[in-house]
Amino acid sequence: MSTDCIFCRIAAGEIPANVVLQTPSVLVFRDIAPKAPIHLLVIPKKHIATVNDITSEDWELVGQLFDAAAQAARMEGVAEKGYRLITNVNADGGQEVFHIHLHLLAGKRLGFS
Ligand code: AMP
Repeated sequence: MSTDCIFCRIAAGEIPANVVLQTPSVLVFRDIAPKAPIHLLVIPKKHIATVNDITSEDWELVGQLFDAAAQAARMEGVAEKGYRLITNVNADGGQEVFHIHLHLLAGKRLGFS
């Protein structure tokens, strides 16, 4: 855990979040500033700053992130209709929180821009 990382602090229960799903390794919660009718964040409890920092040790965990995203999509009732998963990386990718996460966006037909 990184004490100055907001997502680590959410995963540790130190900062409240609207949690949708929790597994031993992954947390899914609602984004505080939703960009779509449904906007969830899927994070590993382990601190990994960016996709560039994923190592082969994390491959199972990365699979668990996608599995939790699909499970959350089913729970939200959007799995069949569809949703989008986005991961921003570093400055040009628009990453603001340096703890890897999938954005799960759904609830409307999403454009591409
Ligand atoms: P990114 O720009 O990809 O790093 O996305 C970070 C996301 O985290 C943004 O969509 C923020 O709205 C969201 N966010 C930041 N702080 C919180 C928080 N305390 N609870 C929920 N979502 C947050």
